[in-house]
Amino acid sequence: MYNTFVQVILDNLSKSTDQIYTYGVPDSLINSVEEGKRVKVNFGRGKNIIDGLIVSVDSACDYPIEKIKPLIAVTDERPIVTKEMIKILFWIRERYICKYSDALKLMVPYETQSVYEKHVRLKEDKDISKYKINKTGNQLKVIEYLKSRKSESVAQLIEKLNVSKAVINNLIKKDVLEEELVFEYKDRTGHELDEPLTLNEDQKKACEIILNSDKKAFLLHGVTGSGKTEVYMNIISEYLREGKQSIMLVPEISLTAQTIDRFKRRFGNKIAVFHSKLSKKDRYIQWLRVYNKEAYIVVGARSALFAPIDNLGVIVIDEEHEDTYISGTAPKYNTVEVAIKMAYMSGGKVILGSATPSLNTYHMAMTGRIELIEMNKRVKEAQMPEIEIINMADELDKGNNSIISEVLYESIRKSLKQKEQVILFLNKRGYSGFVSCKKCGYTVRCSRCDVSMTYHLVGNIMKCHYCGSAKRMPGKCPRCGSDKIEQFSAGTQHVEKLINNLFPHARIERMDLDSMTDTEAYENIYNDFKNKKIDILIGTQMLAKGFDFPNVTTVGVLSADALLNLPFYNASEKTFQLITQVSGRAGRGDKIGRVYIQTYEPGNFIIKAAKNNDYDLFLRQELKLRKEFAFPPFINIINICLISKNEEELVKTAHEKYLEVKEAVKEMVKERSLLLYRPVPHNIYKLNNEYRINLYIKVSNNRLADLKKIIRTVYMEKDIENIKVSININTDTI
Ligand code: ADP
Ligand code: ZN
Ligand code: ZN
Repeated sequence: MYNTFVQVILDNLSKSTDQIYTYGVPDSLINSVEEGKRVKVNFGRGKNIIDGLIVSVDSACDYPIEKIKPLIAVTDERPIVTKEMIKILFWIRERYICKYSDALKLMVPYETQSVYEKHVRLKEDKDISKYKINKTGNQLKVIEYLKSRKSESVAQLIEKLNVSKAVINNLIKKDVLEEELVFEYKDRTGHELDEPLTLNEDQKKACEIILNSDKKAFLLHGVTGSGKTEVYMNIISEYLREGKQSIMLVPEISLTAQTIDRFKRRFGNKIAVFHSKLSKKDRYIQWLRVYNKEAYIVVGARSALFAPIDNLGVIVIDEEHEDTYISGTAPKYNTVEVAIKMAYMSGGKVILGSATPSLNTYHMAMTGRIELIEMNKRVKEAQMPEIEIINMADELDKGNNSIISEVLYESIRKSLKQKEQVILFLNKRGYSGFVSCKKCGYTVRCSRCDVSMTYHLVGNIMKCHYCGSAKRMPGKCPRCGSDKIEQFSAGTQHVEKLINNLFPHARIERMDLDSMTDTEAYENIYNDFKNKKIDILIGTQMLAKGFDFPNVTTVGVLSADALLNLPFYNASEKTFQLITQVSGRAGRGDKIGRVYIQTYEPGNFIIKAAKNNDYDLFLRQELKLRKEFAFPPFINIINICLISKNEEELVKTAHEKYLEVKEAVKEMVKERSLLLYRPVPHNIYKLNNEYRINLYIKVSNNRLADLKKIIRTVYMEKDIENIKVSININTDTI
């Protein structure tokens, strides 16, 4: 019947049909089938036609041949996914315990129809004079017009020459003109390109190491302004010269306008920019430009990692520690992990750049898995801002119970008086469930996990959201005996009003994560701040990035505690990174900036490390704690979150599934390579009318694969009615 078969991954299937399917190749398609091309197939009993991707072409098949259906069509002329990326696809499915179709989604573009325009041109090899042309003159008009140019769009011809479509069609029929589809992309970068700068010694050394080392992946650890971006561009242009394509990833497009501009000025129309704000059509156009090798450098957010490249030079991940590199939807992949895997499979390289590398990445460098390159000096000697830690307990003693300390108040006043600007930093809302002492800074933490416990009104108890253990809410501070121990509130909801009262003449704006979904709103505030139409800008995490303004002289972190006590094992790491970045917002120009960190825990090592810009102190202490309390990078932590509108069903299912897992991991628990906790309510138990229950499992590397198999069996073999499953591997994001 058939002598060629294809294995196909299908799009959009339920869990129970998440497998590879075999189809027979009819003779008419034998020459078209190839790994990495899309196909159309019948699926199910009906005549449903769905899309798939060929992952292998075989001459035999061990499936009963009479049951095999024929392939209907091959969509692509050449593969859209390389062999290496097919391997990555399989790897992603294993690594992040997702479906084939989830992984497939990353690599296949949304297609839109109209990215090509119909053009016509004169047939070159024909002598036009031989053809009989109507004497209406219209046909001649078209021919004359086309003599002076390669081709023109049919729409343009009709409009410019005021001829009818029939005129053009006639010429095509007479074989005078031929049609072609021309890619509808107008390059708008007309300006001259920037010359590369002459690299300094540090930069030269970094480039040499990256280009010549046997290692595949590099951590470029360098303070802001040490010239990392210049290094990235240099390496990328080396690969460009070899005809290789590269990927430049940034945490978030809207926050990195300056970097993208710099790339455009350096590489002009060799750049394709990928981001989620593009229309589907524009996104597809950019995808095609890369696929057709019109663009050699892909700049974009994490999804740009899957651009259709078959000759990878380098993948750069700038600000590699950012949470935006972890996907929020299945597969919940970690961009850094996937990029490193890709480099190993495809022969390209990876550069991870950061001033505050993630602990995981730095640990990989310490253990030799990636190569560490340090750039400690700034290119242009700039004054580092002064950072002052403010003990909020002292403020309370002084009778000031507002969330603005006296010193910060004075500094804001001074900045405003000198027509300088102020940035005030608050934490994201939603997590204020921890309990602390306003006298001595003591916080209630889990003694097993060293994570802040969350207050639960029911039962007046504190609960750890990893291991589920509970403590009674203390009546007095166990450390200093004070009764000022209570649920922490930074009072951030009212900050804007408060600041308004304190500084009635200042122009104040607030920038929330909520309003950030709207790029325009973000850009308006960004521009107003840049143009000094705003005096005080209040905002969350996002202010830590991209706001490089020389006129900012006061930066205040209103509550470092709200960060430090986020109920996540990596809260300290995130706090260190944020404070370091936020501080970097002050004094970018000639003026010296002043940074104030308000806290009830002035002695905390993270606060000290951030103040002194001491990455080593942070690293040593934090690694020690991670080891002691068994968290990554020393162990894997897997989170399975069940989500449902129906609370009763959710609780029941979470428990049943937990028992199934418990039974299956018995041996591993006995051999002490696995810790299984009980299901616990998510920190934000109810969100958008859905309830969420977490299960945490810690597992050593040598048993990770076994555990994943179990998780797949329990949670992924078939869809659970009314319940969504979200699985996170070592990616507890804040
Ligand atoms: P980073 O990416 O580490 O923050 P950048 O590459 O943006 O650092 O460099 C910081 C500033 O120094 C930029 O304004 C950049 O143009 C400038 N710069 C970088 N390298 C050089 C160089 N070799 N010579 C002169 N200026 C440089
Ligand atoms: Zn106390
Ligand atoms: Zn715990």
